[in-house]
Amino acid sequence: MASYRGLNDLGPLAGKCALVRVDFNVPMDPESKTITDDTRMRAALPTIRWLLGQNARVILMSHLGRPKGPDPKFSLRPVAEHLARLLARPVGFVGELVGPAVKQAVAKLEPGDVLMLENVRFHPGETKNDPELARQLASLADVYVDDAFGSAHRAHASVAGVPAFLPSAAGLLMERELAMLGDVLGSPERPYWAIIGGAKVSDKVALLDRLVATADGLVIGGGMANTFLAAEGYHLGASKVEAEAAAKAKTLLEQARERGVPIGLPVDLVVAEAFAPDSAHHVTTPDRVGDDELALDIGPATVEKIGQWLAAARTVFWNGPMGVFEWEAFSSGTIGVASALAESTAKVVVGGGDSVAAVAKAGIADRLTHVSTGGGAALEFLEGKALPGVLALAK
Ligand code: ADP
Ligand code: MG
Repeated sequence: MASYRGLNDLGPLAGKCALVRVDFNVPMDPESKTITDDTRMRAALPTIRWLLGQNARVILMSHLGRPKGPDPKFSLRPVAEHLARLLARPVGFVGELVGPAVKQAVAKLEPGDVLMLENVRFHPGETKNDPELARQLASLADVYVDDAFGSAHRAHASVAGVPAFLPSAAGLLMERELAMLGDVLGSPERPYWAIIGGAKVSDKVALLDRLVATADGLVIGGGMANTFLAAEGYHLGASKVEAEAAAKAKTLLEQARERGVPIGLPVDLVVAEAFAPDSAHHVTTPDRVGDDELALDIGPATVEKIGQWLAAARTVFWNGPMGVFEWEAFSSGTIGVASALAESTAKVVVGGGDSVAAVAKAGIADRLTHVSTGGGAALEFLEGKALPGVLALAK
C-alpha cells in the first residue's frame, strides 16, 4: 500500500495557518437548524485539537448538502456554532469561501483560533476542481490537512485541488480510515468474510466482484439477496428483484463456487403483504413466498446461520442493512447481525451510509473495530479504486 503524509510530516506548526478540509456534511433539522447527528463532526475533533495543541491557526472548510449555488438553507453557520460547543471555544465564521472578507478574517486569526469558511459547494469551481479556486484557497494558509475521508472519492477543488499548492497531510481521522480500510483491502487477517446487504445488486457490482475474488466467504442479505435467490431459481412473489442483475448474480455465484468461496444466502425471510411499516408480516422460507408477498428482512434462522458462518472469521467487513431496518417490524435481521458482530472477537469494520446508521441504531458502534465515516468513499476504496483525495496525499 502507498503511504501518506501525516500531521508530523508538516514540521513545526506554531503560528502557522492550517487549512483543513473536514466532512461536516451532517443532518440538520431544517426549522431549528439543530444538528441531529454530529458523529462526523466529533470524528474530526482529534485533528482540530491536535492542530490547536501545536498553536496553529485553523481554517476549516466543508461541504453541506448539494446546493446548486449560494443557498442559506445550506449555510455552515449553524455547524460552526455547534463546533464551538464541541470544542468549548469560539469558532469564527465567514459567510464566504474566498475573497476579501475571507482574507480579512484570516488576517485577524491568532495562534489557537478557529475559523470556519462557508460551504465549499456554494462556489461553482468546487465540483469542477477549478485550479484557480484551489489556488485562492491555498493562498489563505501555510499547510493543508485533509480529514474528510467521506469526500476523498470526489475530485473537487477543496479535496484534490488544494494539495497541489501547499504542503499537505492526512488528518488523524483520514489516517485511521486509511489504516483500517487499507488492512481490510490489502492484508486482512484470514478467514476474511464480508456481509453485503442493502437495496440493490446493481449499486454494488464492483464491490461484489472484488469480494468474490478476495474474501474467504460472503453473506448476502437485504434487498439484494432477493435477486441472488431468484438467480438460484426461487420465486419471490412481489419482492424487489432486479431482473437485469439476475444474470450478474448468477455469474457471481458461479465464480464463488469455482474459487471455493462459500456464499451464504437467506434460509428464511420476513415477508409482508405491502411495502409499509405497519404491514402484516410473517417468517417463511424462500420456496414459500406467496405471489403477493414481499421479502423485507432476513428471518431469525438466517441470523443464527450468519453467526455460525462467521464463527471462525478473523476479519469481517459489513456493508448494507439486512432488511428495511428503518421500520421496526423489519429491523430484526439487521439488529441481530449487529449484535452478533458486537460479540465477535474478529476485527469488524462497517462502511456505508445506511449501514452506519443501522449500527448506531443498534447501539453497538463502540463495540466494533471501526465504523467508517466514509459512506460512498469507503465502498469505492474497498472496490480497489484510487481515490483522488487520497492520491493527493501520497508520499
Ligand atoms: P449503505 O448505504 O449502507 O451502502 P444501501 O444504501 O445499499 O446501504 O441500502 C440501504 C437501504 O436498503 C435501506 O434504505 C433499506 O431500507 C433498503 N433495504 C434493505 N433490505 C431491503 C429489502 N428487502 N427490500 C427493500 N429495501 C431494502
Ligand atoms: Mg445508502
